[in-house]
Amino acid sequence: MPCRTNALYVHPAINVQRRKVTYKLYPTAAQAERLMSLLRAHRDLWNAALEERIDAWRKARKSISYEDQCASLTQLRGELPEDWATMNCSSQQVTLRRLDKAFKAFFDRVKRGQSPGFPRFKSIARMPGIGFNGHGDGWRFEPNLANEGRPDNFGVVCWAKHGTLRLQGVGHLPCRGQARAGGIIKSCELLHRRGAHGDQWHVSVTLECADADVARERTAHHAMAADWGVSHLLTIARTDGPHDEVIEREDNPRWYSSAAERLVALDRAVSSKKRGSKNWKKACARRGAFKARLARKRHEHQHRLSARIAARCSVFATEKLAVANMTRSAAGTVEEPGKNVAARSGLNREILDTAAAALLRKVAYEVRETGALYLEAPTRKLKPSQTCPSCGAVQKKQLRQRWHCCHLCGHEEDRDTAAARLVLRWALGTLDCGQELADAA
Ligand SMILES: [Zn+2]
Repeated sequence: MPCRTNALYVHPAINVQRRKVTYKLYPTAAQAERLMSLLRAHRDLWNAALEERIDAWRKARKSISYEDQCASLTQLRGELPEDWATMNCSSQQVTLRRLDKAFKAFFDRVKRGQSPGFPRFKSIARMPGIGFNGHGDGWRFEPNLANEGRPDNFGVVCWAKHGTLRLQGVGHLPCRGQARAGGIIKSCELLHRRGAHGDQWHVSVTLECADADVARERTAHHAMAADWGVSHLLTIARTDGPHDEVIEREDNPRWYSSAAERLVALDRAVSSKKRGSKNWKKACARRGAFKARLARKRHEHQHRLSARIAARCSVFATEKLAVANMTRSAAGTVEEPGKNVAARSGLNREILDTAAAALLRKVAYEVRETGALYLEAPTRKLKPSQTCPSCGAVQKKQLRQRWHCCHLCGHEEDRDTAAARLVLRWALGTLDCGQELADAA
């Protein structure tokens, strides 16, 4: 089906990238009921398809493919018209495809010698949502348009806040949210969340957007490098003119650590109730709502921080993270018991509380979106926390040593600041420390 509105959004740009925009949905009570029954139908489809795969293997050692299941879906739709044929076929295929992916991921991990969990039968609570492909195939998203849909000076129709989602079998759903830029609508996902105030629905729309056409001078004058840490979330070294470096620090809000007491109390409330009882369900909902609120706060804070960074730099560099290594179980394994178990596990909690990977992912995404460069320094070769930014001498530091004091040139400063400075010089190519590092770049 041709897309009437989309033709307006094609932007004469070379690079195209995919972005997701999430809108909150406001269904009426009747629509919410229909959305729930849609979700239940998809859960049933998932469970039936999973059972089919398990049965086929158990009885005949036969593995069933995604294509097989699509064929039986078509047959089923013919046989049970009142139930299934009213549902969107390609979104059912998305659910089958997800099951297929779950199986592939499972077998991949088995092959790599890991011990993954087998794909699960799902309850409604474990069913995150329903995917849709092909705009116009059972759904259509219509954003509100700026200037009543008139193109601006560049011939682009801009999206305003909010919009409407039309869904087959459900109707028109008002959407609340805002895309940073419009694009060609590709696919969407209905997301179901159960909050303290009942069911909530969101739609995450995938757009194909033109790369930001913000012209940026990629000069060293706007380079930034960040070192991530626990005491300060980010220590940023940035250039200020051709010869100066400025250091900025972002505090670590410690969302989870500061809420630890409340979380323990909520956990205790759950475990003191009889499992499955009315009060147990209430306590679970309270705990879930509290955790969701924390997660939202952190998400919001990370977004603000990364947007602020992206708005100001043309080059952003940071060291490659390996959170999994840093937070490897403090207790260790049976063969290799860990040292300083209490201290290590406390630090692990602190490290995980910064959600460094999620933060840097957002920074990378937003920095690239503005057309700037995002660089990852090779941690192993550069050793940002061990190397002197002034003379390049390498000196081993323990994790608790928070001060850098060079034994060669006498350069002294805070450890995180030294690391950020080093990464900045690496990014600018002005690091003076021999061949090995030059190769690493
Ligand atoms: Zn030095």
